[in-house]
Amino acid sequence: MSKLYFRYGAMGSSKTANAIMVQYNYQERGQNALMLKPRLDNRDGERVVGSRSGLSAPCSFVEELDDIDVKRYDCVIVDEAQFLTKAQVRRLADIADDLNIPVICYGLRTDFQGNLFEGSQWLMAWADTIEEIKTVCWCGRKATMIARLVNGAVVRTGPQIVLGGNESYVSLCRRHWSRGELAAEEVRRISAGKEAFMPLLLEADPSEAMIRRYLDAGELYVLTVHGKPACVAVMLADEGGDWELKNLATAPDMRGRGYATRLMEHLIKLYGPRCERLRVGTSPANVGFYERFGFKTAGVRERFFTDNYPEPIVEDGVTLTDMIVMERIQA
Ligand SMILES: [Zn+2]
Repeated sequence: MSKLYFRYGAMGSSKTANAIMVQYNYQERGQNALMLKPRLDNRDGERVVGSRSGLSAPCSFVEELDDIDVKRYDCVIVDEAQFLTKAQVRRLADIADDLNIPVICYGLRTDFQGNLFEGSQWLMAWADTIEEIKTVCWCGRKATMIARLVNGAVVRTGPQIVLGGNESYVSLCRRHWSRGELAAEEVRRISAGKEAFMPLLLEADPSEAMIRRYLDAGELYVLTVHGKPACVAVMLADEGGDWELKNLATAPDMRGRGYATRLMEHLIKLYGPRCERLRVGTSPANVGFYERFGFKTAGVRERFFTDNYPEPIVEDGVTLTDMIVMERIQA
């Protein structure tokens, strides 16, 4: 007899990456695993499952099961299984029982209010094997709950399903979820929903068009203070394998408290071992800031600020023209 599995975990517990690896393992053995996810009305309808680690795989929708010859497969894998309906879970159980094909479902256990999702409820009730995929709270305890964030604050009310990534959800231990307590200060990498940080990014780069040139391909980091974004940075790789800091901005009401310094230190620790040199293009006023981290002036991009921006950029009463290029040669 084949089993119905439910593998659950909070956000960021690599459920999707796990699902993709299981499919890959089947392929390696010369077998086929069918990847499914439930279709949601308010979602983009993309036939792909994607994880924050960057892995992705094509998939079909659970709603299309009638048109799929499931018997051709050796395993059925379901991502985002919390969104299944009771009837769909029943149908998947039948695949395990009647077709003797294992069905492995990955999903969240509970929503942001701590209530079971419909899919999770029936998987908890009917699955043969229930396994937890672990992740940690900022305090180091196991994170079993998820909190929804709006403008960096934990919200308690709202619809059950609001799609979002780690820009709008955070996994917490039960104690910190109950108290709505977020890390005093932490740096997080944001992979989805980067748009939410546009107002903050504009603080350092006044052109949305310029920001869009590097935001998608760049790696976005946010230093949060009790959940509130205080400072953002974007790193972008160049063809030579070096990394350039494209944006570093602190929220106006959070300045003068060393957040940009701590985010820079974090980035140097992260990217230092990954490349030969770190680069930043900046205005003369910020040269001193970067020199503190070991950056040295390497060149000048003449008229960069006047040629690339429609409006003059005035910083501390000075209209910017040339961009100073600074480099930090890694030890
Ligand atoms: Zn905690």
